[in-house]
Amino acid sequence: MNLSFVNQAPDSPWATYLSQVDRVLPYLGSLARWSETLKRPKRALIVDIPIELDNGTVSHFEGYRVQHNLSRGPGKGGVRFHPDVTLEEVMALSAWMTVKCAAVNLPYGGAKGGVRVEPKSLSLKELEKLTRRYTSEIGLIIGPHSDIPAPDVNTNPQIMAWMMDTYSMNVGATATGVVTGKPIELGGSLGRVKATGRGVFVVGRETARRMNVSIDGARVAVQGFGNVGSSAAELFVGSGAKLVAVQDHSGTVHNPNGLDLAGLLAEVAAHGGIGGFKGGDVIGNEDFWDVETDILIPAALESVITRERARRIKTKMVLEGANGPTTPDGDLILGERGIMVVPDVIANAGGVTVSYFEWVQDFSSFFWSEDEINVRLDKIMVDAFKRIWEIGEQHGIPLRTAAFVVACTRVLQAREKRGLYP
Ligand code: GLU
Repeated sequence: MNLSFVNQAPDSPWATYLSQVDRVLPYLGSLARWSETLKRPKRALIVDIPIELDNGTVSHFEGYRVQHNLSRGPGKGGVRFHPDVTLEEVMALSAWMTVKCAAVNLPYGGAKGGVRVEPKSLSLKELEKLTRRYTSEIGLIIGPHSDIPAPDVNTNPQIMAWMMDTYSMNVGATATGVVTGKPIELGGSLGRVKATGRGVFVVGRETARRMNVSIDGARVAVQGFGNVGSSAAELFVGSGAKLVAVQDHSGTVHNPNGLDLAGLLAEVAAHGGIGGFKGGDVIGNEDFWDVETDILIPAALESVITRERARRIKTKMVLEGANGPTTPDGDLILGERGIMVVPDVIANAGGVTVSYFEWVQDFSSFFWSEDEINVRLDKIMVDAFKRIWEIGEQHGIPLRTAAFVVACTRVLQAREKRGLYP
């Protein structure tokens, strides 16, 4: 039965997620009996966040925290601040966290949070008030052993510090393990900031090797030049790839001979976006999807690779740094055209993997070197990818379905072993 409170418009993130689950059912054997579990969130909290703005008026914002599944452990997943956030979007993002954590075998369930706000319109003080009130409101369901938030779109280590402090003040003890992605001074982990981009690179490298595509000299385009897109681009360029196009909220630049990465980063630091960068041609945003590449990395928001764009994209591999960037139709068309799609639930799992390391370090109060972090991250990603690749080969199915087979099997085995209560 459909959930009464969601808008399941085609191509919406929740509808996309449901169709991904449907594709996996034939491969779940008797566990398919429990599959309805995957199609509804365990718990969803909607909160009102009133804050006094600098001009003395009071403004109300809508916030959410959704725990999709807790069968394998506490909820885990980021918090995003964005004007388009909806309950339905956060539900899908929480479900992808369930699948992602299980795909890399982290002992977590899936959760996600969001506030419907344009953070750029707030002063730093207002942003802090918003973060603290949101944390206090979702304090009912988060905690180091129940649900652990982290950064996502438009949230960062400073925001995690405010969340950690607010939760700690409310419980009367410093609880570093309640959020991950914190500053190093507060129990954060070395390597966390760049971990998602690093994971994207590692999984891209493993896929390229199996496809006989060389990273050295490969043409790479990145949509979204935030934490994920820029860190991944840095590692690809460091291995000899050419960054031929970048798009962010401020525009799209293209240079078939390769864009200068340091110049792009300096442009973002100075102007908050790449739009004014002089080291390439400014092209229309829609033209980004026509640029010829070997590896295309969507690293911004959901549902950008539509049916129409999937027909035009000229690449060998779509490496999903973002969550949910490809619609179900887009996915089918890329597959039919022989373009390898490396799904989000493995490609961008490096972030939550180092979040897991951070959480473990917080509990043991013993911190690892950056080298140790990166070596362990590499190993987890390589092993998880290998397993997914093998399942894909064994059944002759796309990597996304293979990742869902691995992950949903783990989630539903836990579900079955725990049994129904009461
Ligand atoms: N927001 C990231 C993601 O979508 C990281 C979540 C986390 O570290 O808990 O995977």
